[in-house]
Amino acid sequence: MDTFKPRFLPPYYGAAYYPEDWPDATADRDIELMLGAGVNVARMAEFAWARMEPREGDYQFGWLERAVEKLADAGIASVLGTPSATPPVWLVEKHPEVLFVQADGHRIGHGGRRHTCPNNPVYRDYSVRVAEKMADAFGQDDRVVAWQIDNEVFPHYDFSGRGGMFTRACCCPVCMDGFHAWLEERFGTVDALNQAWCLDLWSQRYDRFDQVPAPDNHIWHHPSLLASWDRFNSESYVAFVAAQARAIRARALQPIGTDMMPFFELDHYAMNRELDVVQFNHYYMNDLLRQVPLYFDYLRPAKDRPWWNTETSPGCPGNHQIAPYCAPGFCRANSWLPFALGAEANLFWLWRSHWNGQELMMGGVVTTEGRPSHHYDEMREVSAGLKNSADFLRGTRPVQTGLAIHAGFDPAVLFRSQPVMSGFNYVDSLQHKVYQPLIRKQYRPDVIAPGVDLDPYRLLVSCFLPDLSAGGLRDRLQAWIEAGGIWVAGPFTDIRDGEGGKFLHAPFGILEEWAGVHCKYQIPGSPKGLRYTWADGAESEGQVWHCGFEPAPGTEILATFREHWLDGLAAVVERPMGKGAVVLLGTMPDPEAWVRLVDRLAERAGVRPAADASVNVMAAPRTGGAGSGLVAVEMENKEGWCAVPGPGVDLVSGNRVEGRVELLPYGVLVYKADA
Ligand SMILES: [Zn+2]
Repeated sequence: MDTFKPRFLPPYYGAAYYPEDWPDATADRDIELMLGAGVNVARMAEFAWARMEPREGDYQFGWLERAVEKLADAGIASVLGTPSATPPVWLVEKHPEVLFVQADGHRIGHGGRRHTCPNNPVYRDYSVRVAEKMADAFGQDDRVVAWQIDNEVFPHYDFSGRGGMFTRACCCPVCMDGFHAWLEERFGTVDALNQAWCLDLWSQRYDRFDQVPAPDNHIWHHPSLLASWDRFNSESYVAFVAAQARAIRARALQPIGTDMMPFFELDHYAMNRELDVVQFNHYYMNDLLRQVPLYFDYLRPAKDRPWWNTETSPGCPGNHQIAPYCAPGFCRANSWLPFALGAEANLFWLWRSHWNGQELMMGGVVTTEGRPSHHYDEMREVSAGLKNSADFLRGTRPVQTGLAIHAGFDPAVLFRSQPVMSGFNYVDSLQHKVYQPLIRKQYRPDVIAPGVDLDPYRLLVSCFLPDLSAGGLRDRLQAWIEAGGIWVAGPFTDIRDGEGGKFLHAPFGILEEWAGVHCKYQIPGSPKGLRYTWADGAESEGQVWHCGFEPAPGTEILATFREHWLDGLAAVVERPMGKGAVVLLGTMPDPEAWVRLVDRLAERAGVRPAADASVNVMAAPRTGGAGSGLVAVEMENKEGWCAVPGPGVDLVSGNRVEGRVELLPYGVLVYKADA
């Protein structure tokens, strides 16, 4: 395949644009305003199936071609989305079997979005066909710089008010047949499934795979069933997207992605295996902004190329009701943060607010009437800074520091099916107990799925990773540790087999052996944490969970419990393994103790904080052919600072900088070191 040479180069900064909702006459005004804001990319067509194929087989791309042309004439690139989130009514009328079926058998109707089955072959065919026609029309077009397949493919929103925010996936006959085939592929025989899930209990055993039900929110289901259903569901959407990706790739030169949401219940890594560019949407506004880097750090390692932030709000999110406004400057920080963490594109949802429809109160860069919103000037300022920094951003990538944190789909699915402890929330615990304390100290981790190669890392944190079997992780871990890696494991790590069952020989699969301990007692971390002391005398209180260990000779005790049943038992231990070491956490240290422990291990592993900056600043060093430097973003609407390692220039302001650089609330620094 030819190498694609886009007419317009990154960094891309723009918005979603819906010419299908507006008379052609508004386009000139929109483009004039886009140029004023410094926009250089527009994302179109993601829901416009009824305009692109108003009748079956009658493909109409003239309106889209005119939009692409007008934008390109103004120097603005296009990104095209395939429309399979929103089928036209003629399709569902002719083939009602493509519609999503809920667990109670109710087949939902036309009129929303994401209301179709991901496995239905008829729907797959129609979706692939319209994608092919789009690729035939635009696949060789250098004005179009990327493809987006569908939109936010999973999960399906549940507006019934029952069963939580999301339903547990389509339960139509095609999906049920698919699920049963998936189980058969996994287990071979139904007896093997009965054995793996311990189904003599409660007389749950099956005689045939087709007796295994879809989960129903009214039933106390088996956790292995729930986890399997989630895995099957994620794989269904991966296959749905992959079918379109293959069709487009056969006709098109541009990179292909699908815009995903911050829910770990979709396997983002599996989804991107057949795609080219990781695309991600987020609406982490105001105080939540500092939580979104967890996802950016998780997406970046999924592909060896810059990723795209395909959606965020300029600062007035909502849908049919508007959310709280964001403070002045928020648009600036929210614009720059993805670029700091390895993105080459950031697009707002949306350009011009809709004039009717389900998302009527989502604030655009431009109001429904075509007036610049209160974010417009900030956007103009950001685009000017991006222009000044473009060569540096294109010619450098974020520095990998040797630190990784395990996270992702596999643990999320397991904890969703069996939360293990009341009050335990996987993502919140990962975010607030593991990740945030480290990034406040300016560690710059990659957050990686368990399947990712460990070779680039020297210090690896695997808290809350119940299953080590997937992707041969256990063997890869052993080789990596023996070669010199330092592995921090626990709590809730290595406590379940691949089906979510407990081990019979020990509370852990291999951790007792590797860490040289016998786990005497396990006590939940509520109603309060148990006291323990570190070897240096520092006192702490446990979090989340407590395992009290009896260490074998050769195992070093780093901390000891001082309360109740665990008094005198080890709380944190370390044991050498080959050239490396295993550090086993019997409890999650509080943030201060956690950072102290990581500091000590990081020093031994040759991992350092990436920058010297205040806790409210995200500072991400980068290096490459265009030099070295860093991008720093203030995330909490407070004054902050970042020390630069030598004399250089702030590419945004053009000012010379050296030493400690002050950042205004939501301020940004793009520092390039002098050569
Ligand atoms: Zn289905």
